[in-house]
Amino acid sequence: MTEINGISSSPGYSIGRAFVYRHDKLVILHEHIPELSVNDEIERLDGCFSSLISEYREYLEHATGDSERALYSVELLMLDDVEYRKSIKKLISEKLYSAPWAVEEATEEIIRVISTVEDEYLKERIIDIRDIEYVILETLTGKRREHIVVRDKRVLVADYILTSELLGLEGLENIEGIVLDNGGKTSHVSIIAKSKKIPSVVGVAGFSSTLEEGELVIVDGEHGIVIKNPTDSVIREYERKKKEREKLLKGLDRRSEKLSYTSDGRRVTLDANIEWLEDVNDAISSGAENIGLFRTEFIAIKNDIFNSRDKKDEIYMETARLMSGRGSVVFRTLDIGGDKKTEGMIEEDNPILGWRAVRYMLAHKAEFMAQMRAILLASRYRNVKMMFPMISGVEELEETLSLLSDVKNELRRKRIDFDENMKVGTMIEVPSAAMISDILARKVDFFSIGTNDLIQYTIAVDRGNDKTNYLYEPLHPGVLRLIKLVVDNAHDAGIEVGICGQMASEILYLPILIGLGLDELSMSPASIPVLRGVIPSLSYGDCSRLVNEVLSESSHIEIERKVKEFLDERKTRNKK
Ligand code: PEP
Ligand code: MG
Repeated sequence: MTEINGISSSPGYSIGRAFVYRHDKLVILHEHIPELSVNDEIERLDGCFSSLISEYREYLEHATGDSERALYSVELLMLDDVEYRKSIKKLISEKLYSAPWAVEEATEEIIRVISTVEDEYLKERIIDIRDIEYVILETLTGKRREHIVVRDKRVLVADYILTSELLGLEGLENIEGIVLDNGGKTSHVSIIAKSKKIPSVVGVAGFSSTLEEGELVIVDGEHGIVIKNPTDSVIREYERKKKEREKLLKGLDRRSEKLSYTSDGRRVTLDANIEWLEDVNDAISSGAENIGLFRTEFIAIKNDIFNSRDKKDEIYMETARLMSGRGSVVFRTLDIGGDKKTEGMIEEDNPILGWRAVRYMLAHKAEFMAQMRAILLASRYRNVKMMFPMISGVEELEETLSLLSDVKNELRRKRIDFDENMKVGTMIEVPSAAMISDILARKVDFFSIGTNDLIQYTIAVDRGNDKTNYLYEPLHPGVLRLIKLVVDNAHDAGIEVGICGQMASEILYLPILIGLGLDELSMSPASIPVLRGVIPSLSYGDCSRLVNEVLSESSHIEIERKVKEFLDERKTRNKK
């Protein structure tokens, strides 16, 4: 058994026999033409380009998918490129190259230039350029490539594969996996593999030359690994992984049928709160659209945050990877302190009002920046968001954002990939933050209201003290007014606002939260199917009327009575 690392270019697992395809080089004779033939040679070149341009325009017109359209557009651009054609003609007229030789030379020159540029995307276009070069040379020389034909279920293993070859491949439905010696993540072959859901690993230099036709190969498109001649136990392990993934995807299909809308069409996003990497599966199978809150402090406390054994880099990366193509992940930076103390943290008289969350982390900048770095690294999956807990005022937020900008600069300097467009949000869980949410909303991309704390701090009632918990009341008019203020300020500033406190998961509060205009509710995975069942029976219009009514009430007792009456009415209406 041999295991080789490459680049994952399309997710999923496949286990199958290899179909090995290696290209013969199209041999172009390097011969000079007589000076008298220059005009004929240029005419031959123009004729070839004109017929290919009309051929490709027709392909483009009849292209069925985005990947095909993208491919033909890129190739047409190249065929239409005046400079490219000029450089070929120059070689013919000045150096007396034959047209195929001139095409080869002019194309190589473009590829040479692109290869020196530090831009992965451009480098990956080389395969498209080679593709069109091949097509031009075939047309000029009349040496047509044969179609690749794959009759049985196979893993396609090749030195490289031109996009036109893949699209023209007979038996594409038989391809269960793709492994290429060359190629990159964003090459069109990778895009096509992804859109056809074919697991694929590229950049496995030299692999195709070591393989015999029909040899057993495992393609691990999740981790960019290829295994040649796997042992029985590895095969079993991958069969299990493959089944698990299929199960996950089925859950996902159910999910997409079940995006939540109120009866009058207002969308409410249902996301999951998680604490551990293992919770991601629960989140997906419960139908969560995204991870709306990853409480990162739990793994940090368990693994001891201050001695870098907390494995955060791997855990964040793996979470983002598991959610990639499914939804986003909001990593909340460490909310330690308060009732979440770790070894070595000082005892305080009032820990809940003390050195907690961003306050604590701003005093431990190295650890704060290390966590931001880990989150930014995971953002390479382009589905990551970062959120700060316990922000109480603008200075705290600005200082935090400036640390984030330092970390980003460091990554840029080191040329480490991260999502430049990563969304950054803040929790609103301190009343002062709610009061100035109009100002905070101009500095971030989203809000998530932490009602667990917002209620605690608004009513001044310790959320963990059972002697006073009779005062802990989500429907307190003061709490509802604050939530309304935050939602309105967020929407006025054009940003989204959700709730990730316990309040989001209870049916009793649902009409109020919908009526207040929350865009997202994030909760423990188990509550998601329950709320999903209720949302379609509520109308946003009715809920906002209910909110208008209850906001002028003086007591939570009367508010609760009205909400219950509202829900009962709908229950009986739905039964009829
Ligand atoms: C909240 O305060 O509502 C919240 C989601 O954060 P935590 O419960 O972790 O404090
Ligand atoms: Mg909180």
